[in-house]
Amino acid sequence: MVLFENYRRLPVKFVRGEGVYLYDDKGKRYLDFLAGIAVNTLGYGDKELTEVICEQAKRLLHISNLFENPWQEEVAEELLREFWTKGRVFFCNSGAEANEAAIKLVRKYWRNRGEDRYRIVVFKNGFHGRTYGSLSATAQPKFHEGFQPMLEGFDWADLNDISSVEKAVGEKTGAVMLEVIQGEGGINECTEDFLRNLQDFCNEKNLLLVIDEVQTGMGRTGRFFAYQHYGLKPDIVTLAKGLGGGLPIGAVIAREEVALSMGPGSHGSTFGGNPLVCEASKVVIRKVKELLPHVEEVGSYFKEKLQSLKVGEVKGKGLMLGLDIGRDCSEVVKKALEKGLVINCTAGSVLRFLPPLIVEKEHVDEAIGILEEVLAL
Ligand SMILES: *Cc1c(COP(=O)(O)O)cnc(C)c1O
Repeated sequence: MVLFENYRRLPVKFVRGEGVYLYDDKGKRYLDFLAGIAVNTLGYGDKELTEVICEQAKRLLHISNLFENPWQEEVAEELLREFWTKGRVFFCNSGAEANEAAIKLVRKYWRNRGEDRYRIVVFKNGFHGRTYGSLSATAQPKFHEGFQPMLEGFDWADLNDISSVEKAVGEKTGAVMLEVIQGEGGINECTEDFLRNLQDFCNEKNLLLVIDEVQTGMGRTGRFFAYQHYGLKPDIVTLAKGLGGGLPIGAVIAREEVALSMGPGSHGSTFGGNPLVCEASKVVIRKVKELLPHVEEVGSYFKEKLQSLKVGEVKGKGLMLGLDIGRDCSEVVKKALEKGLVINCTAGSVLRFLPPLIVEKEHVDEAIGILEEVLAL
């Protein structure tokens, strides 16, 4: 025993992958409908991605942010092409780090204006990461257990309830932060009405709107950013998971005026946005943009198939779907794994599906077949 016991690991040893399939050490094949939790956007062994990574690995892995980094500039340009207004990008290595930077950015923005608006409204069942800032922003007591005291300055509101947001906002509130579809919280979608009201409310109260797209971003829901479904105009957007197609990279995109609150020396990351991950990310971003109609098409086909199982509520958009079976779903996950389907369980009773974006309808049929068996339909 050499590892921390913080993970509940399933008894399988994956040794390689190909397309949407994983293979274990005994040569058994698994259909992967989890993609390393929305990370392996292009599946396994994408030829172009693999070649670009190999070539860049031979040239230059890392330089340091003390020097110019044209790789970051190229990725930033690609991301900003999708952003609703002029913005700037900061690179880090994970979702938690991206949210950490976003939280610091909110505070700095208001401090630079001489205002003490350091508080942020966050939503129950949200998830923003495991570092102290991002954990404090995560309004789920089970993740805080044993780690208190949390960072000061987060007020909790109920999702899809604008009056609870109004109640949570005070003189010192500087921002509202949310996922438009809560991932770890159980694939809980914000309603269009709620988001429209939230945007109006933020405009009216001069609050920064921070959208955590760590799970929903990178084409996962059928749009490049999930907030685009609702016509939102966020001040800050965070990205990670799918951004590197399997390599660790996170990003914060902010409206230019907001981004420029972080002056030289104010924040940083040693590894953030090194040449290797940025070269990979450029390929992933280009391919994801091409895959958007495919995600929408296969996603709605999958959603219909899940609904036709009639075992519970089907939630989510594109290829970020959940099936609430109304009882503990960890056993279903284990049985599915035995039958060669990789999925996971969130919020106790929600089977979560996050396949690589290259998944085809025939794979959906295969997954549905296994689900019918393990749910004993
Ligand atoms: C996974 C996730 C995070 C945390 O990302 P890490 O890379 O694990 O730090 C933050 N926000 C959301 C919405 C996530 O799904």
